[in-house]
Amino acid sequence: MEYPYKSIFERYSFTCQYCGWRGDQNFTDWYIASLCIDHIKPRSKGGTDDDTNLVVSCHACNQYKGSHECESLEEAKEFVSRKRAETQTWFEKHVLKKEELSKNVKMPC
Ligand SMILES: [Zn+2]
Repeated sequence: MEYPYKSIFERYSFTCQYCGWRGDQNFTDWYIASLCIDHIKPRSKGGTDDDTNLVVSCHACNQYKGSHECESLEEAKEFVSRKRAETQTWFEKHVLKKEELSKNVKMPC
């Protein structure tokens, strides 16, 4: 069975371009990451299937980026990093229950 988008995955070494998670080290990492192809500029916003608009993304980063409109990989990285930081704050407050964090932290998605 052929690996879909093989050349894109190989170009980015099976590594999420937003968080750096590598999916080519062992089966478990590959399985958990659920690596997929992300359109930097979403198709719904006029993005193309051109190689320059495609990057490797893990499932989590792909969820956070959603259909947010980005014009460049840098812009998309910044957006996903901000979402991840907000989610980490939420996680520390509600899952780890760290007391020192401020109240009213909302789940960002
Ligand atoms: Zn990621």
